[in-house]
Parts: sequence; structure tokens; C-alpha cells
Amino acid sequence: MSNIKVINPATEELVTTIAADTEETIAEKYALLRKGQPAWAARPLSERLACIEQFYNLLEAEKETISLSLTTEMGKPLQQARNEINGARGRIRFFIDHSEKWLSPEWVNSEGGTKEKITYEPLGVIANISAWNYPYLIGVNVIIPALIGGNAVFYKPSEFTLLTGQHIRDMIYKAGVPENVFQMAAGGGAVGGMLLELPLDGYFFTGSYKTGQYIASKVAPKMVPCQLELGGKDPLYVADDVEDIDKVAEAALEGVVYNNGQSCCAVERIYVQEKVYDAFVQSISAQSAKLVVGDPTDPSTEIGPLSRKEQADFLKSQIDDAVGKGATIVAGGNPVPAKGYFISPTILTGVNHSMAVMKAESFGPVIGIQKVANDEEATQLMLDTEYGLTAAVYSSDFDRAEKIMQLMNTGTVYWNCCDRVSAGLPWSGRKHSGLGATLSFAGIRAFVQPKAWHLRG
Ligand code: NAD
Repeated sequence: MSNIKVINPATEELVTTIAADTEETIAEKYALLRKGQPAWAARPLSERLACIEQFYNLLEAEKETISLSLTTEMGKPLQQARNEINGARGRIRFFIDHSEKWLSPEWVNSEGGTKEKITYEPLGVIANISAWNYPYLIGVNVIIPALIGGNAVFYKPSEFTLLTGQHIRDMIYKAGVPENVFQMAAGGGAVGGMLLELPLDGYFFTGSYKTGQYIASKVAPKMVPCQLELGGKDPLYVADDVEDIDKVAEAALEGVVYNNGQSCCAVERIYVQEKVYDAFVQSISAQSAKLVVGDPTDPSTEIGPLSRKEQADFLKSQIDDAVGKGATIVAGGNPVPAKGYFISPTILTGVNHSMAVMKAESFGPVIGIQKVANDEEATQLMLDTEYGLTAAVYSSDFDRAEKIMQLMNTGTVYWNCCDRVSAGLPWSGRKHSGLGATLSFAGIRAFVQPKAWHLRG
């Protein structure tokens, strides 16, 4: 059994080591889940919901400990870790309050010679292979509705947030979910690969397009649901009729740098109409220069380290590529600690779509701003992407913004806001951003299968 090192990205120090699973332990865990799932599904929905309510309470009770643990292993500022847990609780509350409505049997026709109804049955034993950037939020999107729906869950957190994975597992057990209904797999891609070899009844993945595409190809012959929440290259457009350019710049900057830009729906490229371009660039650059980068446990810190060492080199390569092709760095160079995976938030102007920073997912605090003549040019550039997660339009005129939003081939559109997710709305990506939806009614029904009953007599 190999060991996985948990490294603090702010200090580069070893926090602990965790034993990875092996083919034998994965097989044992799978056997447990297969055996336990039918009894879990047979329990009344109210009992399953009561366990989830306990989990919801535990997240609050243990918030300080688990926030610090998350910050220690992935580097997000402590307050953002607390915010993530609060956000995860909000999503769980949505699932608790709305699951009965979407999972109860429905009579389509309850009179006459042939009665007809629909019931919703669990998929069975499902895998959740997950990313590290928002482990609580993306974890609960799958784990909670899957358990409520009567499934057993084989949860594989990212190898970069294993402590959080363990906390989630322990709190799930403490909340009353049996060990033969929830199991965690510890490891990296190889252990994820072991889950792909199992005869599971559904695969729910959050991560990169590259891994997602591989998983989809491996799962396809099994003929079971395979849902993918992948990356994005999300555009934000600032039209020339915005009322308060500083406020728009502030919102856009937050969309770029919150969680150090490591959000699937982070603002990844900005287009600004030429009349307000100079004012916008001036404002966002000035605000960016004030961002405090440093120790994520210090309450004054706004930007912590990147979670992964390689990511700093990747972002530097995007910046070099852009500068080599004629872009200008208008903000960057904020002081950063000598140790740790830190990078100064960087804003580039004079960019175009020949540059990687405008086409490939950055997943960090680096942004290109491109000047556009009008809404048509903005729309055309916003659509020039392989991804389809979100798109944002800032304008004081809803009709004008709506025309652009209607043309976006994305799962989500924003008017005068960005980088947000709501439990009541479906979260879904198109094209290379994914398949299927979590959250909302769609994210409850995703974990069950309908059965049609034709009843005579
Ligand atoms: P990743 O694809 O590297 O890894 C995701 C998970 O897949 C990890 O648990 C990893 O161990 C596992 N994995 C890797 N190789 C595998 C293989 N061959 N077989 C099975 N499992 C394998 O992604 P990441 O770096 O953890 O996450 C960042 C990406 O996730 C970004 O692209 C981001 O945009 C995306 N993301 C999307 C959403 C969304 O809701 N759309 C949310 C969060 C993150």
C-alpha cells in the first residue's frame, strides 16, 4: 500500500501521510456497498433524510476544525473555507426540503380500467470521483442526493483534499449512514481507475475535461449513467452602458480571484466595449494591486497559495505565451511569500484568441481583457470556445443583455453577476464543460431511475 503525502501549499511542509487503497481494499469496500445498498434503499425516505439532517448539523458543529483542515491541505483563505461549508449546508438544506417532492410516487392516471403511476428507484451503487477546489460543495452535490435517493456511494475525493475526504466520511458515519452504504477510496488517478473497473451503477465525476473524457469512454460500454461536471473558460462582457464601472470591475475581479481563481465558473476572460475599456482596465488593475496575497490563515489574506505546485508553472507559461504574442501585463507583482505555491494575481491587456490565456482553462488568478467594438463582436468572441459552463453580461439594459445571453451555448448565464451557483438551479456544462446536471430538481432526479407502472384489475 503506497502512501500519499499531504503537503501544505502555503509552507510546502508535510502535514501527514495517508495510505492509498489497493485493488484488494477497493474490492472489499465494493462488496460491502453492494451488500448494504438494498437495506438502505428499503428504509423510509424520512429516515434517510434524518441522517442527512444530522450531517448538516455536524458541518456546523465542526466548522472551525474542518475549515482549518481544508485551508491546510489546499490553501484557500480560512474565511473562504468557512464560506464553502456554509454554502454546502445551504445546498443540503435545499435537498432536505425538496427531495420528497421529486422522489415520491406520482399517479399519472389513478382512475379507469388501467391505472398508471411512476416510481423513482435508486440507481444502486454509484461512484463519485471528485476534484479538490471546492471539495465540500462539489461533494455534497453528489453524495447527498445520491444517499437520499437510496443509493450506496463509493466516494473518491481528490488526492489533494484527502483530509477533507476523511472528514466527510467520518461525519457521514457519525450522522448515522452505515459503513456498508458509504465508503471512501483514497488515492489518485490509479485508484480512480480501479473504480472504473468495478460494475457500478453510475459514475458522477467532477474534474478536468481530459479526465472526464477518459472516464466517459471507459464507462460507455457499461450502459450506466455517467455524469460529468468539467472545466470552463467562462467569459464576462462589460457593455458600454454600465452605471458604475468601479463596482463592475470589483465584481469581475472577485470572479477572477475568489478561491485563487480555482473555480470551475471563475471568470476566465473579459471583453469590454471600447467606450468604457480604459476606465475598466484602470479600475480593475488598481483594485488588483491592493489584493493581499499570503498566509491563508491570516484574516487579512485575500489570496492564498495555489493548491498544486505545477499550476504556478502552468500559469506562468500562459502569461509568457501572451506576452510573447504582444500582450501587456497591467497588474501583477503583488508581494508574495518566498515559500509556498504563490503567484501574484496578473491582468493582461492587448490579448486575442491566438493566446492560450483566452482559450485554455487557466484555473488561477490570471486574466486577459480584450477590447471589443460592440455587442456583436463580444458575442462572437464569447462563443469562440470549446467550453460551455457559464457566461456573464454586465449592462444596465436587460433586453440588451438578454439577447446575448440567449445566444450563449452554456448551462448558466448571468446578468450583472458572475461566478455563482444556486442550489435551486440546475448546474450543468455543455460541450467540453460536461454532461448532465447537479442541483435543483434535476440534481435530485439524476440519482434515481423512473419505473412506469401499468396497472389493470
Ligand atoms: P482531475 O481531472 O485532475 O481530477 C479529478 C479526479 O479524477 C481526482 O479525484 C483524480 O484523482 C481523478 N482521476 C484522475 N485521473 C483519473 C483516471 N485516469 N481515472 C479515474 N479517475 C481519475 O481534476 P482536478 O485537478 O481535481 O480538478 C480541476 C478541474 O475540475 C478543473 O478543470 C475544474 O474546472 C473542474 N471542476 C469542475 C466543476 C464543475 O462543477 N463543472 C467543479 C469543480 C471543478
